[in-house]
Amino acid sequence: MTDATPDITIPADLLPSDGRFGCGPSKVRPEAVEALAKEAATYLGTSHRQANVRFMVSRLRNGLAELFALPDGYEVVLGNGGTTILWDALTFGVIEQRSLHYTFGEFSSKFAEAAAAAPHIGEPTVVSSDPGTRPAPVVVDGVDVYALTHNETSTGVMTDLRRPEGVPASEALVAVDATSAAGGLRFDPTEVDLYYFAPQKCLASDGGLWLAACSPAAAERIERIAASDRWVPAGLDLGIALDQSRKDQTYNTPALATIFLAVQQIEWLNSNGGLEWAASRCDRSAATMYGWAEASAYATPYVAEADARSHVVATIDLDDRIPATTVSAVLRNNGIVDTDSYRKLGRNQLRIAMFPAIEPADIEALTACIDHVVAALS
Ligand SMILES: *Cc1c(COP(=O)(O)O)cnc(C)c1O
Repeated sequence: MTDATPDITIPADLLPSDGRFGCGPSKVRPEAVEALAKEAATYLGTSHRQANVRFMVSRLRNGLAELFALPDGYEVVLGNGGTTILWDALTFGVIEQRSLHYTFGEFSSKFAEAAAAAPHIGEPTVVSSDPGTRPAPVVVDGVDVYALTHNETSTGVMTDLRRPEGVPASEALVAVDATSAAGGLRFDPTEVDLYYFAPQKCLASDGGLWLAACSPAAAERIERIAASDRWVPAGLDLGIALDQSRKDQTYNTPALATIFLAVQQIEWLNSNGGLEWAASRCDRSAATMYGWAEASAYATPYVAEADARSHVVATIDLDDRIPATTVSAVLRNNGIVDTDSYRKLGRNQLRIAMFPAIEPADIEALTACIDHVVAALS
């Protein structure tokens, strides 16, 4: 506790059952950790080239195909390094000449920056909108990858995933950063070619891995570029990643616990009703959170357009007389962690994950805790 943080104790009966509301790494279900502990002796510390771990990777790949209802011919590819490393790999292995990026916050901007910095491809086209909004779709000649973001985690804005009007996959691929959306928001896989993410958000696992649902057109692009004379570092070579994934392996050693925990979450979602069930949990949490903010005298949803308000990451502005950093600090001292706003956005704001692992009832409890803290502060 810092000296500046007021000493406020939230009554125990108001507290959520789990205090983790961070947007990544985010809540890992205790049941998944227990399952890992139970299987640890025969799983952790064993070779990722042997049947036991490869079977876990196959459960991961098949489970995601089921969760997303991937059409025939789509396949799940994985590798090490998380989403940020995959951006670099995409500049090598998927962008042929020129990409177009919709940027509306920190994460969507980062892939655009990676593409702009890559010397072997052309200058990307960047279509931006202000933080808290989402850009309107455009079609630009000569673009071979359209880069979308399903959920902009820094601002709490979600988007609809659609192919650019009149542009087939044979002409341009649709690549979607779904890092904070995959497993929590609905989408139509036929509208996308690469739906990529990391498992420390809606998949309630740990970081360090990237995963991508690839359409046949995306796999064809990867194979064609891999066979060309473009130089690609082996660790970023998507041709190698595709090849290894088809054998339920990775190019180098993956984090076995991360794979296990992701499988636990995917199978939990699938056994309860799949993506529809997961997304409806997030819908319920979002309705609670935004409904509370709209009724509140001191809190307001940051995103003005109701349809653009994310159902997996809520951003809530507070009145200037109530410092959000103090509210977050008091919550933290009471075991409710990571409700802080995205630093670079620089707003008097709380940012709250509503991923499928987070109980909708805990979102309700959180709003009561915030009310308690704010009342105690005034
Ligand atoms: C968290 C996040 C990332 C970064 O993921 P890493 O696995 O840490 O590289 C990228 N994009 C979005 C939308 C995110 O939410």
